[in-house]
Amino acid sequence: MKRCEVFVNEEFCKGCGICVHFCPREAIVLSEDFNSKGVNVPVPAHMEKCTGCRLCELYCPDFAIAVQEVT
Ligand code: SF4
Ligand code: SF4
Repeated sequence: MKRCEVFVNEEFCKGCGICVHFCPREAIVLSEDFNSKGVNVPVPAHMEKCTGCRLCELYCPDFAIAVQEVT
């Protein structure tokens, strides 16, 4: 299986959780901690389950999350 990482642009992310909701593998979760902007950003939880489907990236309305394949 592909190994992937997710990158979140904390300037754009508003913590809406859409990416987490649409992740079919529960690979990402919203952080329990607020960042400096008062937002709970998505963080990796089980990236070993990530298939690289990019649904999180596609559904984010703010272009705040990106998936990158790691070689
Ligand atoms: S990355 Fe996008 S979809 Fe996910 S919580 Fe942030 S703004 Fe919402
Ligand atoms: S690429 Fe797919 S499986 Fe991986 S975190 Fe995003 S939605 Fe989940």
